[in-house]
Amino acid sequence: MTSDIAADCLFCKIVAGQVPADVVATSKRAIAFRDIAPQAPLHVLVAPKEHHGDVAQLAAVDPALLADVVALADQVAGEQADGQFRLIFNSGPRAGQSVFHVHGHVIGGARLGWTPA
Ligand code: IMP
Repeated sequence: MTSDIAADCLFCKIVAGQVPADVVATSKRAIAFRDIAPQAPLHVLVAPKEHHGDVAQLAAVDPALLADVVALADQVAGEQADGQFRLIFNSGPRAGQSVFHVHGHVIGGARLGWTPA
């Protein structure tokens, strides 16, 4: 789904300031806020301010906006950690997506293992 704001979307409500969040950075079209259940010393979510369901949908309709989201991830990793990061987009429930407003998990601040299964 693609629209500026989706009803009953948690991350649209965070963008609108209707749900509190620890916002660490914003750009014109994207927002970065700390995950409420961090899995690493740095665990920030980066999302477009407008609603898109998942990363494939965003890439199809507005690749420049996806690039903005990735640029914000890089900015946050530089400001909040050592500039090195993993960026994870869960796409679909079986991949672990639970909030259907596209977001990347910016993970860093430590040496990372590799066991996604
Ligand atoms: P997903 O499972 O890839 O869709 O990621 C959703 C993420 O959102 C999870 O890591 C949750 O911990 C996180 N999350 C859920 N609710 C909130 C919130 O209100 N603020 C910040 N992060 C949240």
